[in-house]
Amino acid sequence: MSAGGDSIGSDTRPARLAALRDALARADLDAVLVTSRPNVRYLTGFSGSNALLVVTAKDCVLLTDFRYATQVEAELGSSTSVRIESTNLWTGLWAQLATLSGVERIGFESMHLLHRDFARLLEQGARWSWRPTTDLVESRRAVKDAGELAHIECAVAMAEIALRQTVPMLRAGLTETSVAGMLERHLRDAGSEEYPFPSIVASGPRSALPHARASNRVLESGDFVLIDFGAVTAGYCSDITRTFVLGRASDEQREVYDIVREANVRASGSLRVGMTGMAADAVARDYIAARGFGEAFGHSLGHGIGLEVHEAPRLARIVESPLAAGTVVTIEPGIYRAGWGGVRIEDDVFLSDAGPRVLTGFPRELHELS
Ligand code: ZN
Ligand code: ZN
Repeated sequence: MSAGGDSIGSDTRPARLAALRDALARADLDAVLVTSRPNVRYLTGFSGSNALLVVTAKDCVLLTDFRYATQVEAELGSSTSVRIESTNLWTGLWAQLATLSGVERIGFESMHLLHRDFARLLEQGARWSWRPTTDLVESRRAVKDAGELAHIECAVAMAEIALRQTVPMLRAGLTETSVAGMLERHLRDAGSEEYPFPSIVASGPRSALPHARASNRVLESGDFVLIDFGAVTAGYCSDITRTFVLGRASDEQREVYDIVREANVRASGSLRVGMTGMAADAVARDYIAARGFGEAFGHSLGHGIGLEVHEAPRLARIVESPLAAGTVVTIEPGIYRAGWGGVRIEDDVFLSDAGPRVLTGFPRELHELS
């Protein structure tokens, strides 16, 4: 299924292009060169790895190479035309731009263009005037339509199926990498196209590393086992964390776990349209601090998910922009104590004018694995 394709609801790509064209007009640009793969996919449905996209007030032209000739025809809607380049996409770009009348000022995505390619704009593309842009497409991607939300819900369901299948297999003596392997096998069986990031399985003291990779550490009785992972479908990601205890939890483990769970539930339940990312973050942070663990929650509360696993909006201490209706964000408070261990509980939450809806159904209660 292509992003914005007609698998769910109507084709949303013309509306996305119209919104981008409005933004171009406001920015006094005649065109924009889109080089970010997720942005190309969002606007056209094309999921290949090699593309340049030019959007003007009238035209939308995608350049790709021979490997994608069949795929691109299947994925693109009627609002985008295709040029298959046999030599180099950039050579094709100059030829294409020369056919577009009235195009002088062209934006490029300053967050996504390699310096090498920027040099091409200044050299071979010197007859046009190039202007840096940021977030022209990303700011629109923050608000999901019904089809996108359905894809994310599907990715959440796949992740939860995989986790439910993996949890009964967790036991002392397994390595973190073997647990990650079982989880990823189950993700594939559930239909996940790929992994949005290398699955994190962090046990014992390693659970205190917020971005640990799975290692060859052997799981031991009494360990926290923190699993942070996701699934991908139609390009859309889920991102979920659960933390388990192998065997009986100590009083200290239970205390820390319960604080993180309460912070998670409070933060999810408090999300409102118009709230700043800072205010959302503070709900969890202030609670954890009041319980005496403020220093142990060192990362931000959450981030948007969609075609990328980290996208707008951010829920963090420095974010003053308000949350829009239609965003899907993670809520992932944690407490990390070096040498002892850590707990994170991460859910995916859809925010609308009706309030927050937690998409993740996997239980949050402390699960002691026998
Ligand atoms: Zn995560
Ligand atoms: Zn996350």
